[in-house]
Amino acid sequence: MRHIACITFDFDAISGWIARGMTSPSPISRGEFGPNVAVSRILALLKKYAVPASWYIPGHTLETYPDPCRQVCDAGHEIGHHGWTHRPPASLTREQEEEELVRANEQIKKLAGCYARGYRSPSWDLSPHSVELLLKHGFIYDSSMMGDDYTPYRVRQGDIIELEKPAVFGKETPLIEMPISWTLDDYPHFEFVRTPTVIQQGLMNANNVLANWLDDFMYLRDNLEWGVITYTFHPFVIGRGHRMMALEKLIQTLKEQGVVFMKLEDAAAEYQKRNPFKTG
Ligand SMILES: [Zn+2]
Repeated sequence: MRHIACITFDFDAISGWIARGMTSPSPISRGEFGPNVAVSRILALLKKYAVPASWYIPGHTLETYPDPCRQVCDAGHEIGHHGWTHRPPASLTREQEEEELVRANEQIKKLAGCYARGYRSPSWDLSPHSVELLLKHGFIYDSSMMGDDYTPYRVRQGDIIELEKPAVFGKETPLIEMPISWTLDDYPHFEFVRTPTVIQQGLMNANNVLANWLDDFMYLRDNLEWGVITYTFHPFVIGRGHRMMALEKLIQTLKEQGVVFMKLEDAAAEYQKRNPFKTG
């Protein structure tokens, strides 16, 4: 039995608000809570429990907040790709998407010494070109899809999905999917967001959310011999007091349960070893 937990952070800082056109001082301040306050708290907590983590950092954050990004990298965590502007790829042309991939990847190389192995799309919405572009640019894994929960899988390319026809599925590619879900993401549970068209209520009791997060691990523990559970946090979301306490309880409890904490790239490598890609 081997149960792996990946603690991951999408370090959006202010880029998520900018991508939605929310550039007035209050949303900007909401985002800058991440680099200015939360990152050092989170790094201290990860250090206390010796938890290696994966951080998906948009190019905008890398270029705007170099010091906190350097601290994350120096602490030994994985630096993954999270777009440049935080616009979801599905909203970009192929050319724009590739430009963002390259531009942010150069910043990642400057910071970490090598290009990103892992990609997580802003807002978890890949475009029809993403898989091809990720393979072209040497990515090993993606972490933006929900087709499994505890078992990584190979990403398909070339699906034909039309309204009044049965779906035709494309071929598997070597790209490994490290699946995520909104339920294991702090953002929808905790953040109150009001736009002209949408109200996201958020503001959940952190202990109730923690209970769900732990139960999803208990299900893995009780039902699979090998598996990966991937949690997604945002510094500006999880970095508030009561949520930091929930994060600490999560890490403590997982540790007591004998979980193995890994960076997502290492968990992907372990999956690759257990399930080598077969062509044809
Ligand atoms: Zn993000």
